[in-house]
Amino acid sequence: MKNFRAASALVAVTTGCALLLTACGQDSEGGSQEKKDKKDVTIGIAMPTKSSERWIADGKNMTASLKKAGFATTLQYGEDDPDQQVAQIENMITQGVDALVVAAINGEALSNVLQQAADADIPVISYDRLILGSPHVDYYASFDNEKVGELQATYIVDKLGLKSGAKKGPFNIELFAGSNDDNNTKYFFNGAMKVLKPYFDKKQLVVRSKQTRLNQVTTLRWDGGTAQKRMDDLLTSAYSTAHVDAVLSPYDGISIGILSALKSDDYGSKAKPLPVVTGQDAEVASVKSIIAGQQTQTVYKDTRALAQVAADMVTAVLNGKKPEVNDESTYNNGKKVVPAFLLDPVSVDKSNYRKILVDSGYIDAKELG
Ligand code: BGC
Repeated sequence: MKNFRAASALVAVTTGCALLLTACGQDSEGGSQEKKDKKDVTIGIAMPTKSSERWIADGKNMTASLKKAGFATTLQYGEDDPDQQVAQIENMITQGVDALVVAAINGEALSNVLQQAADADIPVISYDRLILGSPHVDYYASFDNEKVGELQATYIVDKLGLKSGAKKGPFNIELFAGSNDDNNTKYFFNGAMKVLKPYFDKKQLVVRSKQTRLNQVTTLRWDGGTAQKRMDDLLTSAYSTAHVDAVLSPYDGISIGILSALKSDDYGSKAKPLPVVTGQDAEVASVKSIIAGQQTQTVYKDTRALAQVAADMVTAVLNGKKPEVNDESTYNNGKKVVPAFLLDPVSVDKSNYRKILVDSGYIDAKELG
């Protein structure tokens, strides 16, 4: 373990010698101290964007969990601009933060700034999205990202009744994936494709556009408008005489864009029903859409729990301890396998949203109208 500056800072707290130099003078080994009070230990939090509800919640939850653990915090949003995020992290390093929690915009754009963090002995927790190409990523807090894709695809398989012995189909499906610079994208997509593949092989599922490779179906910065445009194009080019039965969508904001395109093409009537449309994040707009019978499914990831995991990691690292992890093999960032704690995602639809989202306090029933 690195000899983090703040790790020694916190020793003062845990040994009860909490308040500044003058109050403590010498440590037990007789050396002089330059310790910080825990409340003077500041954690820098870098989040990707405020354009999506989930990241706003992540910022709030992360701040609350770290404050509860006794730390000061500084929170910045990079507004989906990788350069802006680098500049924000650079500033935090200059300001002397003691640890960083980073949800990357572009997973590969942070190598230089993380070198600066390492030079200043600042530990780094990669939050939700793995930071790539840098050895200076200490721990990773996330969800089982492959399982997210599996849940989306399994929902489609079940909803279309593909598992029944009757060899149902063929059904038409189109595939969407997330941003190509987000490491999670390939985990979501591959998890889904693993589940769908047998049905492609048996021709129970058909992609009329033939766009089945990840690099053909990504959506830069997870942008709903970009997805809407692609869905418009797909409807024009491949569905003038055919019906879309399912759309694999990796994220609620993308699902809303896809549904707009479908509705503009008169989907949503008895004669032309909406396809099964998946999603992720259980954002309020999408849960409302699910209740209204438009979007079909989403994947709930409890960002309160994720923030707690990341805050526990920060606390452990700053105390010179190893945080709890449950995966030490999956997440290789190109420079190292980053020890991770992965939480479980949950599939949500009309039948269980109340129990999973409302009863757990994740969404206030009032917000759902
Ligand atoms: C997150 C998802 C989110 C997506 C778009 C991914 O990295 O894991 O929860 O839907 O980014 O913000």
